[in-house]
Amino acid sequence: MKLLFTLFLSSILLLAGQFRLKLWEKNTTFGQFLNNHHIDATKFYAKVDPNDLKYFTSIMAGAPYFESVKNTKEHLEKLLIPIGEEMQIYIYKDKNNSYNYSIIPIKYKLIKDEISFELKKSCYQDLKELTNNPHLATYLKKIFKDTFDFTKLQKGDKITISYEQKSINGIAWGEPKIKAVLIQGSNKEFFAILENDKYKILSNNIQTKSIKVTKKRYLVFKQPLSHMRITSKFTYKRWHPILHRFRPHLGIDFGGHVGTPIHAIADGKVIFAGWIRGYGKVVKIAHGNGLISLYAHQSKIYVKKGQKVKAYQVIGALGNTGLSTGPHLHLGIYFHGKPVNPAHYINKKIALNSTTFYKKIVQKVSSLPKALKENEKRIYKKLANISNNKPYFWKDFNATISLDLTQGISIAQKKGSLNAVSN
Ligand SMILES: [Zn+2]
Repeated sequence: MKLLFTLFLSSILLLAGQFRLKLWEKNTTFGQFLNNHHIDATKFYAKVDPNDLKYFTSIMAGAPYFESVKNTKEHLEKLLIPIGEEMQIYIYKDKNNSYNYSIIPIKYKLIKDEISFELKKSCYQDLKELTNNPHLATYLKKIFKDTFDFTKLQKGDKITISYEQKSINGIAWGEPKIKAVLIQGSNKEFFAILENDKYKILSNNIQTKSIKVTKKRYLVFKQPLSHMRITSKFTYKRWHPILHRFRPHLGIDFGGHVGTPIHAIADGKVIFAGWIRGYGKVVKIAHGNGLISLYAHQSKIYVKKGQKVKAYQVIGALGNTGLSTGPHLHLGIYFHGKPVNPAHYINKKIALNSTTFYKKIVQKVSSLPKALKENEKRIYKKLANISNNKPYFWKDFNATISLDLTQGISIAQKKGSLNAVSN
């Protein structure tokens, strides 16, 4: 017996790819089927154990089966007829070239899969379209039947399911086994996990929270002249060469030739371009965050008030206009109206600490993980992560076949691929 069993298994293994999926025709008895294939039904039935007879007489129309034919004459080589999720009738030719049978286990692959989707039509519709598996939604509803009314799901709610599915040659076989589910609504979430053949279900109100985000911003300042030669530093006390008295010098003077291009030290907007007594031809640029730069004594101005400028863009030419002893650029930088030392800004990355802004964002806070055990938490996090990052992915089964001896057979077909199963 053991030898025989092993023999069967290995032959199935060898021939797994050669079987074609077919559906049992209406009003066809097993005897008629044999006759159609030129097999003596009486001879065959003589070999059938009375206890096994029921399997041959109860094959229903539409039931899936797998057959292997030798040539175009449809000469039957082997036949597999499932008689439940686990077992099947195996019909084969024995040594004496006559047909015999055995009841053997169905050889299937167990596929572990996760799917995640946003509700569009209904849980049933969406799941059927996504997975071609009509049973997933039915089982999902069963899990939550005492906890949650599925008609209350709203468009946009997220459902993530981890399940196992038996598969024969890419055909989903039998019923899926849902391992864990995460349903995320706008203000409530449900988590179900299979433990010892029972579902543990947890629900949780999701809190929506506004949080302040402090974002540091930086501004990099360029130099106003390609070659910088400082002739006068920033100081609060300086002997003024023309006025002949101590005057603060609230900027830096750079010596140079008349006509030397002057560059904007950072991105900004021209807020003044014109004449100021003492400063001569002047450009002022606002850089945002309370920072303004001023370029004085220019010979020429190339920009207009209101114009946006880029860092290092030429805005004018060095000159000697206004109260000046010789051609130079006077650069001033003002922070919220107060003069600051440009030496602390030029060629430096400045953190705009005092202008840190606050942004309100909405964050959904789930307290569910706290109520979970370590292994449950891991699965919850896995599903939540799939829900966040991988909106749709699933195993693409050609068709789903469910064989349930008590409820009959249901088949969901996709792309008419039912007859093209053999590899
Ligand atoms: Zn100066």
